[in-house]
Amino acid sequence: MIEDIDRDVFVRIQTDLLVVGDSIMTDRHHASNGNYNDDDPQNQIGGIIPAFPLSGWLRHGLEVTVQEYGGTACHPGEANANFMKDGIYQRDLDAGYHEKGACTDNPKKDSGCVVFDLFGGFGGVPGKVMRRPIKFNPVRSSVDYTRGQAEGHYRRLNRNIVSRNRGDNREALRNASIDAVANLDGCWQLSFREMKPAFIGLLAEGIDFLDAHKTDFMHQLGGARNFGAGVVDCALINPLYEDHELKRVFDRRQGNTNKMDEKDDQWAEEYRPAFVNALDERIEEGP
Ligand SMILES: [Zn+2]
Repeated sequence: MIEDIDRDVFVRIQTDLLVVGDSIMTDRHHASNGNYNDDDPQNQIGGIIPAFPLSGWLRHGLEVTVQEYGGTACHPGEANANFMKDGIYQRDLDAGYHEKGACTDNPKKDSGCVVFDLFGGFGGVPGKVMRRPIKFNPVRSSVDYTRGQAEGHYRRLNRNIVSRNRGDNREALRNASIDAVANLDGCWQLSFREMKPAFIGLLAEGIDFLDAHKTDFMHQLGGARNFGAGVVDCALINPLYEDHELKRVFDRRQGNTNKMDEKDDQWAEEYRPAFVNALDERIEEGP
């Protein structure tokens, strides 16, 4: 059954506004031709959203899912790291985590808990899932969804930080600018180095969890969360789809084909329950 799933799995990501702390790499030096203006609505700037914030967002959703299934998850930080707050590590352990890597004696041979297995990062062992950056482009016809790309509109937001002193009449003290992507809609590509049924079960459950908790501060993506950024609609795109079907998901002129509807039923009735069951069994076995 797992043989029917391609090593590349796609998550649909839609958000009105995304502010990435790790900053966005743009190609405006190509597009500008020497007369680029930040605030020109005619800018046709594409760029890349780095995978770091996406990965942290996904990982947190999967950790909580593991905890909801009665397991504990690998803590993402080293036990001896210099945390800024005393007791924070122990408090996390009490809340459903185990020390990073405590789930495996020999990380090269033993895969540890399912979170460690997926994300790795201990003993020089890579995780089994590679999280790619998302390349975005404002021109939908240029977006290749089958390569994990998205339609998105780069904006630089400028804000004036004003004086609070009455005598200053809200005089600007400084100007702050942040990179943002507006109206993002596309695919995030996850590439599995090794495929296991429990991985797909966890991904399906975790993405549903994140979608259901999208307005929770803890599960928004990126920065500026208090300003409504990072509220993400997400969905696992049916892994049984072929490339032309994946593209059709984003084509607003066309609906599902009968074949796609058939695959949706297969996914919901056979595949997904089997993979979620595999996840349940894996967590039952312990880390
Ligand atoms: Zn672990």
